[in-house]
Amino acid sequence: MDDCLFCKIIKGDIPSNKIYEDEDTYAFFDIHPQTRVHALVVSKHHIPDLGYNAELSDHELAACLRACAAVATQLGLAQGGYRVVNNCGKDACQTVQHLHFHILGGQQMAERMA
Ligand code: AMP
Ligand code: ZN
Repeated sequence: MDDCLFCKIIKGDIPSNKIYEDEDTYAFFDIHPQTRVHALVVSKHHIPDLGYNAELSDHELAACLRACAAVATQLGLAQGGYRVVNNCGKDACQTVQHLHFHILGGQQMAERMA
C-alpha cells in the first residue's frame, strides 16, 4: 500500500525503533507510549483491520499473535504480564488503517479495559 504509514515503516521509508522482525511481522516501539512499555506488532501483509482477516493466511494471522508473545518476552514482560490490544474501526478509535496489535506493559494496569 503506497499511502500507508505502517507499510512505509515496514519498508524502512519511515524510521522506527525496531524491536523484532520475521517473515510475516514487524515490531517497533509506539511513538506515543501509553504505558511504560508500549510496542506495536504489525502484519507485513497490509489489511486495514481485523475485519479483513480473510485476506490473510492462517499462517500470517497466527504469526501476529506469536510475534506479540515473542516481543513481550524480548521486552521482559512475560513474567509480570502484559496486555495485547487490537483496535478495530471507529468505535475503538483505530487511527492507522493497517492491522496492528499493541503490546502494553511494564506496570500494573487498570482492571477495566474501557
Ligand atoms: P491505533 O490507534 O490502534 O490505530 O494505533 C496506532 C498507533 O500508532 C498509535 O498508538 C500511535 O501512537 C502509533 N503511531 C503513529 N505513528 C507512529 C510512528 N511513526 N511510529 C510509531 N508509532 C506510531
Ligand atoms: Zn499498510
